[in-house]
Amino acid sequence: MSAPPGTADTAAAIREAARRIREQGDSAPQLARDPVNTPMINNWTEALGDADPRYPELAPPAMVQVWTMRGLHGRRPADDPLGAMTAVLDEAGYTSVVATDCDQSYARYLRPGERLSVRSRLTDVVGPKRTALGEGWFVTTVSTWSVGSGDDAEPVAEMMFRILKFRPPSPPEPAAAPRAVLRPVVNRDTEYFWAGMAAGELRVWRCGECGLLRHPPGPMCPRCSATHPEFLIASGRGEVYSYVVHHHPPVPGRELPFVVALVALEEGVRVLGELRDTDPAGVRVGLPVEIVFDRVDDELTLPAWRAR
Ligand code: ZN
Repeated sequence: MSAPPGTADTAAAIREAARRIREQGDSAPQLARDPVNTPMINNWTEALGDADPRYPELAPPAMVQVWTMRGLHGRRPADDPLGAMTAVLDEAGYTSVVATDCDQSYARYLRPGERLSVRSRLTDVVGPKRTALGEGWFVTTVSTWSVGSGDDAEPVAEMMFRILKFRPPSPPEPAAAPRAVLRPVVNRDTEYFWAGMAAGELRVWRCGECGLLRHPPGPMCPRCSATHPEFLIASGRGEVYSYVVHHHPPVPGRELPFVVALVALEEGVRVLGELRDTDPAGVRVGLPVEIVFDRVDDELTLPAWRAR
């Protein structure tokens, strides 16, 4: 089935598949793995707090489905009508499921030692319907439990079971949320650097007295102790001096893995930043790079690097 969900072709194909499965009638009897037994009855009545003194000499009728459960490694039989109809709807894009109705009726109590079998048939498939969950199809099956599985099997319980197979609506586009990044602390000593980033300039601290360049910035010249720094505007070119490939842990605003490079500028100081658009395996010391001004918002532009 190749037509997209919701088209007339798809609906017609689903109805045709439903007709075919319905015409197959009852599945072959599936024999229960174990007979009705006292330990399972005790587990059930304890879990539900049912102190009826008739149990566990008899089995609670609502346990009927328990006796034919397939177990942890069981497989749905090939002729199971619900499995077949589910596959058709999955393929047509109705991939989600919710049970909507279940109605059981019992002919009599079961006793430990009785071994059940179950058969199922598809009774109807209705759709497409618009529901609060999305567009979908209601699929109804009827299962019949019998004691024994041969011609003399005695029907003891019946269940009508209805599900809605629906196409979940596409998730809404994420709102234009502010980008989650780790924000630097901007203070009197670093304000010129971040103002430069916003202006598209890579500014490097320079001593107003002796001309020493340094990065990251500080309040005082480490060489002459002057406290009136200036800055120069760097070319934005350099080469990888060292780097790490960050695999873990996750960092807000970053996709893993990413490369953090310490870049030696042409002017001589070293500046740290993410190296973008570069295969981590291709990074090497000495790789020529240039600055990228990564504008996060009105207040913040981060320095990053790319190979040149
Ligand atoms: Zn100085």
